[in-house]
Amino acid sequence: MNWGKDILLAFIFLLIATFCLISLMGINPKPPVEFKLDSEKPSNPWIIETIPDGGSIFSVLANLNLPLKEVGLLAFNFGDYIDVSTIQPGDTLKILLSEDKQHIAKMMFVQEPITRHHFTVSGDSLIYNLEALPVTKIKRILEGRLEDTLDASLLAMGFAPQDKQIINNSLETEINFARDARNGDFFRVFVEECIFEGKTLPGRKIFYVQYSGKRTGTCELFRYEDAEENSVLNGLYTKEGKSCHSNGVGFPLSVIHLVSPFGKRIDPFYGTWAYHQGVDYRARYGTPVYAVANGKVTKAGYNSGFGNEICLKHPSGLLTQYAHLSSMSVRKGQSVKKGQIIGRVGATGRATGAHLHFGLIKGKKYINPANLKMVGTEKLNTTQMERFKTQQQTLLKNMENLQHPQAVAASTKK
Ligand SMILES: [Zn+2]
Repeated sequence: MNWGKDILLAFIFLLIATFCLISLMGINPKPPVEFKLDSEKPSNPWIIETIPDGGSIFSVLANLNLPLKEVGLLAFNFGDYIDVSTIQPGDTLKILLSEDKQHIAKMMFVQEPITRHHFTVSGDSLIYNLEALPVTKIKRILEGRLEDTLDASLLAMGFAPQDKQIINNSLETEINFARDARNGDFFRVFVEECIFEGKTLPGRKIFYVQYSGKRTGTCELFRYEDAEENSVLNGLYTKEGKSCHSNGVGFPLSVIHLVSPFGKRIDPFYGTWAYHQGVDYRARYGTPVYAVANGKVTKAGYNSGFGNEICLKHPSGLLTQYAHLSSMSVRKGQSVKKGQIIGRVGATGRATGAHLHFGLIKGKKYINPANLKMVGTEKLNTTQMERFKTQQQTLLKNMENLQHPQAVAASTKK
């Protein structure tokens, strides 16, 4: 017995001696110099990707060859936190892998440089944090004269593509540019801008658009904002309340919150890549679902994966599909009017939660509903019109104040 004790003591003594010797010789297994070198040259462990033109967060994730389990978790839950329709090319996706590179530890999505969505993978669930950097909001009136095309003129004034498109498309419903526009025509836009680090962010809120020309006359458009935030009615209208995006196709819901876009995505059930032949809009259980245009019911019944499903055929040849409904209020063969309630949102069939799957078929092919310009209403109703008139007055007053800032300052001093 004593033998073993002696050996142990000798061993401990040897260890202490070695340690003292190393300390005396100044050999440190982790000298502080090394730390300094590390902090001076940090290797960036984050995988950084930019959303390309026409790309989505899903297509970016698909191309990175990442651990599928976490990709599925992220892709499937992403839409619960971020309205995917707000994602723009140029937004950044950052991914941090675990030390053994076998798992995704964190994901960060940076939108319009100011919004940072943080996702941390914790076992089978996600922890989400939103970080919003402070911006300065200013209202401005921008004026210009037409040179060649309105598009080029707006571009020269620094309008982002999506803002330009709204102004262009809206005015085109009222003005025949090819026939009536002339160089030197006058236009004025009243916007709210978000400024971050001295730069204007894309996605200006457009309150008012005016276009005046010899042949076009004067056209004025005003923004209407419904009581409900994100209402499909929000947008530009003529003074009389006529929508500027009218092409006869409406929205299937009164508030649109896209959670899963058209195209390649992770199948929420199988965890493998699949093609999504439509879009998913999140909505509460029982929310009314509207026919997007006049048409005839070609299908109204249970269809395995799609659950309660309604299909409509429209005179233009377009087919629309509404799936996972909790209830259906139309029968096969029946004619429906645009805006009529045909059923209610549910989670029947292959659905993990209440949402509307909306599909569009054109010429036997599924097409992306995001490519179809849909309109909240062709014309505001009486109640909405009253609200709109008040908003028009406020808008004009705000513009007047902006043009005469001195007068405002003087009157507030008194
Ligand atoms: Zn779907």
